[in-house]
Amino acid sequence: MRVDYSYGYPTIIHKYDKPVTGSSSSYAPGNENLTNPSMLSLVVKEGVLQRQQDTESQYIKDWVIRVFESSNPIVSPDPHNRYGTEPFYSEPAYGYHLVVVASPNADDTFATISREQWSNVLLVIQDRIRWLYAQKGVAYVTVYGDHGRLTESADTHPHFNMITLRDIPPIIKREIIAQHKIQNESGSCPICRIVATKDNNARKILHTDNFIAFCPWSSPYPFSFWIAKRKHTVSFVDITQREVRDLALILRATLGGLSRVVEDVSYSISFHLSVERKSSKQIHWHLEVQPVTKKWSGMERGYGIYLNDTTPEDVAKRLAAACKKELTSIVGIS
Ligand SMILES: [Zn+2]
Ligand SMILES: [Zn+2]
Repeated sequence: MRVDYSYGYPTIIHKYDKPVTGSSSSYAPGNENLTNPSMLSLVVKEGVLQRQQDTESQYIKDWVIRVFESSNPIVSPDPHNRYGTEPFYSEPAYGYHLVVVASPNADDTFATISREQWSNVLLVIQDRIRWLYAQKGVAYVTVYGDHGRLTESADTHPHFNMITLRDIPPIIKREIIAQHKIQNESGSCPICRIVATKDNNARKILHTDNFIAFCPWSSPYPFSFWIAKRKHTVSFVDITQREVRDLALILRATLGGLSRVVEDVSYSISFHLSVERKSSKQIHWHLEVQPVTKKWSGMERGYGIYLNDTTPEDVAKRLAAACKKELTSIVGIS
C-alpha cells in the first residue's frame, strides 16, 4: 500500500485474477476445494439454518451462503512487502479479505436472490463485521459487491468482499467530518435532514417501515441511489432481525427496479458504515448503489468533478415506478 506523501491518497498495488464464470467458478458449489476452507458455511437442515465450517478433511456441501478468506487477497494478515519512508511512503497492505458468496446459484444476481436469502446475507455480513473488528490491526471494515461486466470482479458469481484497513478510507473520513460539522452547526445530521424534508420527495424512490431509497441531490453517477435508515442510527451491526428483513426487502426491490430500468446494468453496492467500536467516528450509516453507465472524462479523472447526463429527479421518477412493481411482486409472493 502506497500513500501519496502530500495528499494522503492510498493505492494498493494488486494483481487481478482473470474473471471466471458459471460452474467453473471457484465460488460455485462442488468447487469448494478451489478456495480457502470456509470459516462459515450456512446450511439449511430440517428447515433450520445452521452455522458450520470446513475442516481439513471435510468441505461442507449444500450451503446457502459461504464465507472464506480470498485466495487472491487485496490485503493479507501476512503481507510480504516492507515499509518505505517518505517521500515514497509505503506500508504492508495488512488486513483480512473475506469473500461472502451470496447464493449457491451462479446465475443469480443481487437483483434476483430472494428476500429471505438477502436477509441471511445481511445477517452473515453483520456477524463477520463483529468478528473482523475483534481482530488486531483493524481500523475499518469495508463491505462491497460488484455486479456486471463493467465492474471489476474476479468472479461473476454473486458475492461480497469484506476488506479491512488500518486506517479509515478517504470517502468515509470525509463523510465523518462533514456529518459531524453539520450536526454541530444545525443540530441534525445531514441524512436525517434530507430524510425529513419534503423537498427531497422529488428524488425519493421508495420507502419501507424503516428505510428510504433516494437519489442524492448531487448525484455523481447516473442512476445512483442511497438506502438509509429513516431514523438516525449509527450502528449497522446492532439493527434488529426485523430491520434486517426490511433492509433485505428494500434492497431486493430497488436493485430489481434498477435492472428493469437499465438494461444489462453494472453497479457497485458499498456499505458506508460507522467504525463499529466505541469511537467518535460514527455516521448515519447508509448503502450507496453506484451504477456504471458512462465513461469518465478528464473532468472526473483529472479534477474529481462528475458529469452526469441525467437529473436525479428524472431518474428517481423512473426508478420509483419500476421499484414499486418489484416491491409488489416480492411482498405478493412472500
Ligand atoms: Zn441521521
Ligand atoms: Zn456515503
